[in-house]
Amino acid sequence: MALPLPRTLSPSKAAAFTDCPLAFRFSVLDRIPEPPSPHAVRGTFVHAVLERFFWEHPAGERTPEAALAVLATAWVELQDDDTFMALGLGAEAALQFRAEAEMLVANYLRIEDPNAVHAIGVELGLEAQVGGVVLRGIIDRLDLTPEGDLVVVDYKTGWAPSAQFERSRLNGVHTYALLCEQVLGRPPTQVKLLYLRDPVTIVATPTQQSVRGHRARTSALWAAIERACEREDFRPRPSGLCRTCNFQHLCPAFAQLNQAAS
Ligand code: SF4
Repeated sequence: MALPLPRTLSPSKAAAFTDCPLAFRFSVLDRIPEPPSPHAVRGTFVHAVLERFFWEHPAGERTPEAALAVLATAWVELQDDDTFMALGLGAEAALQFRAEAEMLVANYLRIEDPNAVHAIGVELGLEAQVGGVVLRGIIDRLDLTPEGDLVVVDYKTGWAPSAQFERSRLNGVHTYALLCEQVLGRPPTQVKLLYLRDPVTIVATPTQQSVRGHRARTSALWAAIERACEREDFRPRPSGLCRTCNFQHLCPAFAQLNQAAS
């Protein structure tokens, strides 16, 4: 019996299927609950702080003090958040969590001057039909330059990738460019990845050709997901990601790896 297809394809689902089809099945199709990680919860928190910072403070008022005040308010609210509470952090770990969030927000202010930014969208959800699939993405921030060009900004709270892995991390960039073209009628002239931990900015420049290429890759990936669902054939793809995979106990490949190692 065929498995039901996901309703939409996002950059994270595309990456999950590419990394390991079996883990994709457990997470996206079977929806097996996964424990929250402090890294992911902190990332969500910092994104929310920067989102509010832009909504609540117009250009000219985006000071470091204002950013810290937004973080302090959001921190109080976070204490009642189910996912945060599920982390079960003790007092010291919670302080460390907050200090790292403050460091990431302070690093953001070292990367760019938020008062020089004309943001026309924050946490912007875009959805478009691309071939046989509904492509979906959430753009952290969409800017308009004085020349009238669109710039997509994506905040990253992990480390910047090495040159070796940079290309694979640009998949989301191409998805944003394709979504802008489909929904807004033109691709952005730049996609900026702001790595807040380093801190460093990686700038990608989409072209008509790269957008076309990503459209074809998206259709091919969706066809592979359709085939896997139809045949219920989601093969494990062991890699370094197995070390932190939440589905080790369900995975035949992980059991074999363990046996071979012992
Ligand atoms: S343990 Fe490795 S191979 Fe198995 S599901 Fe997880 S990522 Fe895939």
